[in-house]
Amino acid sequence: MAQVLFLGGFGRSGTTLVERLLGELPGMCALGEVVHLWQRDIRDDERCGCGARFSGCAFWRRVGDLAFNGWANVDVDRVHKLRDAVERTRHIPRLASATTATDEVREYASYYARVYAAAAEVSGARMVIDSSKHSALAHVLRWADDLDLRVVHVVRDARGVAYSWTKTVSRPETDGADQMTRYSPGRSAVLWNAHNAAFGLLARRGVPVYRIRYEEFLTDPRAGLIRLADFAGLPLHPEDLDFLRTEHADLRAGHSAAGNPMRFTVGRLALRRDDAWVRALPSTQRRLVGAVCGPLLRAYGYPLNIASEA
Ligand SMILES: [Zn+2]
Repeated sequence: MAQVLFLGGFGRSGTTLVERLLGELPGMCALGEVVHLWQRDIRDDERCGCGARFSGCAFWRRVGDLAFNGWANVDVDRVHKLRDAVERTRHIPRLASATTATDEVREYASYYARVYAAAAEVSGARMVIDSSKHSALAHVLRWADDLDLRVVHVVRDARGVAYSWTKTVSRPETDGADQMTRYSPGRSAVLWNAHNAAFGLLARRGVPVYRIRYEEFLTDPRAGLIRLADFAGLPLHPEDLDFLRTEHADLRAGHSAAGNPMRFTVGRLALRRDDAWVRALPSTQRRLVGAVCGPLLRAYGYPLNIASEA
């Protein structure tokens, strides 16, 4: 049975950094955002975290051979059709209340389960990490056969997230031709609520969900990783965390299939809180996001009034 640690949360909440650190632990194999593998890798042949084109990466070639007898045998149109049918945010209430899965849900989940099982075998890891984030996908995966699913729900202050969505970030895997999506603070706030609440629903359906606050994780990554390894059921030795320094981590190259540009970082990665939003997010937008997200912010333990507010 494949063991998968699914990193969930709304975008720009720090899942990539958490994934990169977890991926350094022995027994873990970080796969990036598998949800994008079908289009960006199989079809568009974008770059793997190791720097090679997907088709030129030996790791992923072996995974494809094992899972599907070659990626050419994956009907990407079928995967997209299934995704549209079952894995949209609007489907979450139905997915969460379902007591049985439809054939489409099971079929869609099976594509992921095959990738996870093959990646575990090729890498020799006990557990693979999928940082797809999407709450709807996590709800789908609870119906996958032969899958031990554990979910890490990464939460970041909605105001920091909203600020991050207003910034322009280019996508290096497309050689600068494409930029990451941007949202207005109001839109970001609504989505932050929906996606984070969805992980609460998932926990109530019996899926093991462990919530971390990104800001808290960054203040003591060592303690945070020890807790996450414990949740994942992964035995850890003190020397396994030697890659962590006081304010940075030393990262090796990985085979992340898709995701935030940080997936390409090799070597030193700074570990510090990014609180730029406290100064840079205009107060009207800060109040708007605080009002829309107030109940959940409070539930997660975030202060609604920020001391350094201008
Ligand atoms: Zn690779």
